[in-house]
Amino acid sequence: MNARRPLVIGNWKMNLDFVEALHLVQQLGVLLKNRPVEHTDVVVAAPFVDLRSVSSIIDSERFAIALGAQHVNSQENGPHTGEISTSMLKRLNVEWVLVGHSERRVHYFMSDEIVAETLRSVVRVGQHAVLCVGEELSIRESDQHEAFVAAQLKSALRGLDEKFHALVTVAYEPLWAIGTGVNATSAQVSEMTALLRTVLRSLSFTSPQVLYGGSVNAENAALLVRESDVDGFLVGGASLKAESFYAILQACDDCYAIKR
Ligand code: PEP
Repeated sequence: MNARRPLVIGNWKMNLDFVEALHLVQQLGVLLKNRPVEHTDVVVAAPFVDLRSVSSIIDSERFAIALGAQHVNSQENGPHTGEISTSMLKRLNVEWVLVGHSERRVHYFMSDEIVAETLRSVVRVGQHAVLCVGEELSIRESDQHEAFVAAQLKSALRGLDEKFHALVTVAYEPLWAIGTGVNATSAQVSEMTALLRTVLRSLSFTSPQVLYGGSVNAENAALLVRESDVDGFLVGGASLKAESFYAILQACDDCYAIKR
């Protein structure tokens, strides 16, 4: 990692009811108050039904944690039964939104077009979009991963006005590493983050922010952050325990402090 300010996002997925969510954010907030991570930005992406309670506690306790959502509908408010809009999220102080997580793409048929529309609707209201890209194992095994991920990235950014570039973060999340316990190696992460940065620069992004996600945990975070050129992590399973998530934050923070 170079000396860009790290960002770590916890993706709680469909875990934690609002009571459990409050408990976790309270524990994490206290850890951060006792031993602040000075150089690292921290975000938790909570389930929709937890957002209000988590937002209230972050606000009242002044925790150094920003709030994220895991998905949003690309349309404005209206006849979309069961969906949530960007303006609803904004009212709850949501500053970050995951866009095109592979679980949305694969299990809920989120097409590249919808990913691009969603990304545009998120940044248009001033929220940060965390665009997730990554290949399946079969694509990597046939050595198509670079072409596939570059195409996914370009497609998601189609039609995006340059003035919104600063609100876009890209997370490289190979599907074979998500929730499997098998993380990409530092070399694999470096290869893909370099590719993503090259594509982003070719699209006039001046300082691309690129995260890695896929079985990051308290044990492998320090090595990954030290040996690869990532700006931080998107963390699933290991974000569900305050201590393991905090250890990842600390690994990023220590690395930044050393390299600065
Ligand atoms: C994720 O779902 O974004 C993720 C990275 O999950 P995990 O850390 O559990 O692999």
